[in-house]
Amino acid sequence: MFVFDAHLDLAMNAMEWNRDLTRTVADIRESEKGMTDKPDRANNTVSFNAMRNGNIGLCVATQIARYVKKDNPLPGWNSPYQAWAQTQGQLAWYRAMEDIGEMVQIRNTEQLNAHLKLWENGLDKNPIGYILSLEGADSIITLKHLERCYEQGLRAIGPAHYGPGTYAHGTDSVGGIGHKGRELLKEIERLNLILDATHLCDVSFWETMKVYQGPVWASHNNCRKFVDHNRQFSDEQLMELIGREGVIGIALDAWMMVPNWVRGISTPKGMDVTLIQMINNIDHVCQLAGNSLHVGIGTDLDGGFGKEQCPADLNTIADLQKIPGLLLGKGYSETDVENIMSKNFIRYLRKVWGN
Ligand SMILES: [Zn+2]
Repeated sequence: MFVFDAHLDLAMNAMEWNRDLTRTVADIRESEKGMTDKPDRANNTVSFNAMRNGNIGLCVATQIARYVKKDNPLPGWNSPYQAWAQTQGQLAWYRAMEDIGEMVQIRNTEQLNAHLKLWENGLDKNPIGYILSLEGADSIITLKHLERCYEQGLRAIGPAHYGPGTYAHGTDSVGGIGHKGRELLKEIERLNLILDATHLCDVSFWETMKVYQGPVWASHNNCRKFVDHNRQFSDEQLMELIGREGVIGIALDAWMMVPNWVRGISTPKGMDVTLIQMINNIDHVCQLAGNSLHVGIGTDLDGGFGKEQCPADLNTIADLQKIPGLLLGKGYSETDVENIMSKNFIRYLRKVWGN
């Protein structure tokens, strides 16, 4: 079954983890043996080959670079100019992958439809389609830069990531969006970008919903009902997104799937983390919505973690093909499953972009 993954950090892996995603997962793991600079070395789960094996022909792929002010302890760039340059380097990598036919950027409905046709025909090595998104807006130096991003094909943007940002407060911080955030939201709306609500802290989330009327989704977000943390959305937040016709992508980071996960210590087997928790999150959103139209897949599988911190029954991203069977087993219809695996996000893109 065709799969749409609403959140992958492909360029970050290429440019910061130095991963050549044109190689197989096994090859990349082999090349990282003994390395300790990142927590997920030799445990990666994503490559183009694995995506093709899993029929994951379309994804939202990010640019990501945090700007940290002097008193911010999080890792990041010391000026927005450096953060901007980092995202532009990431874009250069996507372009290089387009040049060799590994990827293709999707910016409008016409390109989307043509791309889906290509994959329907089931050829051996189709390019992987990507919709460009910016995770955390700190690299946007001025609103003019956001317009430049739009011209480069950017179609979605999350104002915040972890900690306090320039335009909003993100995960594990508390605060509103301020004047700069409101100005950014106006520009997002004017450019018809999709606002990614993921990573907004509660205060920033609700302030955003008050002033923003444009399209919104949550690319990689699980439910607070299962893991009580500010990174997860409460039922009220999920209902707000559902009420705006949005789609929520469910993520596969183990700490967001089971409570009390301790990074670097807990193991997927030890904590019994499997795709079942993803199914439970999907089911919860469907129960809130009363249908299967507002939830999808947003794995984040290359977001700074790998096999050591994802479901035990997933070796590579190709194993997303286990999800349809699990949903059917829970009583979901074939149509529901297609909605969840790709069609909800695709329908939303068509709605935002028009014909
Ligand atoms: Zn994220």
